[in-house]
Amino acid sequence: MRRMKIDELLSATTFETDEHSPHIVIDPQACRTCPSGRACEFSCPAQRYLWDEANDVMTFDHVGCLECGNCRLVCDRLYEGAEGYSWNYPENGSGVSYRFG
Ligand code: SF4
Ligand code: SF4
Repeated sequence: MRRMKIDELLSATTFETDEHSPHIVIDPQACRTCPSGRACEFSCPAQRYLWDEANDVMTFDHVGCLECGNCRLVCDRLYEGAEGYSWNYPENGSGVSYRFG
């Protein structure tokens, strides 16, 4: 059986994205002093976090987030709600819709 790529897997899932109010917020510059070993980048199943070597910042895109809650657990700052960091479920019926079967 062929192993599907993450983009293929995500294409089978639908999203209603709130473009104006990201449900997860990080401080890309403050992530330079990450106390959590950049665990977000290595553990997000949707690969929403990516370290930008050239600009020395963390990049994050909430579009395509699976709302699994992993990053809230592995990131001390998201978990504690540190300044510049917040994690909430999407509002107004937006967010991920999983397809089953
Ligand atoms: S784990 Fe948190 S503080 Fe560290 S790079 Fe990721 S979002 Fe930034
Ligand atoms: S909630 Fe899950 S899918 Fe969304 S950004 Fe965090 S780890 Fe990635």
